[in-house]
Amino acid sequence: MKAFVYKGPGKKALEDRPVPDVKAPTDATVKIIKTTICGTDLHILKGDVPTCTPGRILGHEGVGIVEKTGPGVTAFHQGDHVLISCISACGKCEYCRRGMYSHCTTGGWILGNTIDGTQAEYVRIPHADTSLYPIPPGADEEALVMLSDILPTGFECGVLNGRVEPGATVAIVGAGPIGLAALLTAQFYSPAEIIMIDLDDNRLEVARRFGATQTVNSKDGKAAEKVKALTAGRGADTAIEAVGLPATFLLCEELVAPGGIIANVGVHGTKVDLHLERLWSENIAITTRLVDTVTTPMLLKTVQSKKIDPKLLITHRFKLDKILDAYETFGHAASTGALKVIIEA
Ligand SMILES: [Zn+2]
Ligand SMILES: [Zn+2]
Repeated sequence: MKAFVYKGPGKKALEDRPVPDVKAPTDATVKIIKTTICGTDLHILKGDVPTCTPGRILGHEGVGIVEKTGPGVTAFHQGDHVLISCISACGKCEYCRRGMYSHCTTGGWILGNTIDGTQAEYVRIPHADTSLYPIPPGADEEALVMLSDILPTGFECGVLNGRVEPGATVAIVGAGPIGLAALLTAQFYSPAEIIMIDLDDNRLEVARRFGATQTVNSKDGKAAEKVKALTAGRGADTAIEAVGLPATFLLCEELVAPGGIIANVGVHGTKVDLHLERLWSENIAITTRLVDTVTTPMLLKTVQSKKIDPKLLITHRFKLDKILDAYETFGHAASTGALKVIIEA
């Protein structure tokens, strides 16, 4: 089968690999229909993710058809159409029993990281019963690719951790796919204002279409002042960091209102200053989280009932044999306008 392989920092290739087979009784193999590229995959290609070693097939998102199940798999059968979660979960360990699937002792984020992933024609899914979700008949499968990772990530790490409330003011720093996923799902709670902040005017324009009530271009370094001006000097009740850079986290520290929450979503590679000399008295909270994907069944229902339309995030489509082009397009989002690119296997 064809597979996209990480070959070490800065190196990648489309290779021929053997079709994976079930190993453990609880495994299933899935024939990929559609997958996508994540910002995390770009981090891996740069060499930022040491757990992912050269030779690994990347990808932790996708929809497909169950090809084969181990004898211990009871919830899925050959031919079932399934959504693949970016988080594998045994459902039995202490963390899983607490709903913290991201820290499953034999799972978590392993797909396309410590085991081969979904950017291939087939993938082996461990703990299949609790790591796959049935796709309802008639669902738009392409839209559901957005539910493997970015929708639950934006929702759980940003909106739920940030405790977005009716009437609240939300600032989202970063209008990439994750920030936009937070923007879509924040609207479940009817905040009064959602202020989107980014350097790219095109992305801010997209954010307007997705429901942002205000947009701020942070190019001039005055984003915090502008947010204060838009909120009668208070700042944002919820500040969602969806970039993963020191500057964007510092911006959240500057624009959060007294009593507010900074909900970090971004993947950080370096340390960030925490200005407690200013924040110690401000009654704020800071949250971090790796997505648990506990909200995937709920999000599936909201997509089915058309409360949200994650298909809006899809800007480009490629066949698997053109995945190198897809990486080029996705990796140069500022010039290509790419948000999520769909790869058809
Ligand atoms: Zn991802
Ligand atoms: Zn577990």
